[in-house]
Amino acid sequence: MLNIVLFGPPGAGKGTQSEILIAKYNLIHLSTGDIFRANIKGETELGKLAKSYMDKGELVPDSVTISMLQAEVEKREDAKGFIFDGFPRTSAQANALDAFLSIKQTSITCMLALEVGESELKDRLLNRAKTSGRADDADPNIIQNRIDVYNRETAPVAEYYKAQGKYKGIDGIGSIEEISARLFAAIETTSVS
Ligand code: ADP
Repeated sequence: MLNIVLFGPPGAGKGTQSEILIAKYNLIHLSTGDIFRANIKGETELGKLAKSYMDKGELVPDSVTISMLQAEVEKREDAKGFIFDGFPRTSAQANALDAFLSIKQTSITCMLALEVGESELKDRLLNRAKTSGRADDADPNIIQNRIDVYNRETAPVAEYYKAQGKYKGIDGIGSIEEISARLFAAIETTSVS
């Protein structure tokens, strides 16, 4: 299986690049943010809970997020591989993902980390707010909180994959096509087991 963690701060382009990667490599895209938003739209209990955190730019608690992600993986028995987008976002999530995949006799192939500076991220998110309808994109204070939470809780997850020799940093500045080409090159130099 080809199991990719697509990593990077809010606004780095994970969603856009995921769409391109799933088409090329025939993978299943699991975006925790998208799944939470679908639950908010469907007015489920999970959606109500997630919204109370997302609206503030905080992380949804690990216990809730981990069990939801595992259930989504379980639903797709015949998958050739997954792109995890927005997960893992904490060290506890990274540990849980490894444990869970090893029970399924597979593992993470690599982490592809999109690198984009903070001022560019803020510009992109405010710009996305014009069309996304996302409350968490429209308010500069919430954006700042998301970036702070990323730096504090999520950035350390990169160390976890670096220690396993699975981390690949990708320059996230350029056209969509340029960045996809960098991602393809990184995937193709990774051995898949
Ligand atoms: P972005 O990467 O642009 O911040 P996402 O759509 O990935 O957007 O996430 C939006 C929000 O959903 C996050 O700010 C957080 O509240 C929640 N969320 C998404 N993924 C996770 C996760 N793995 N753990 C906890 N909360 C999450």
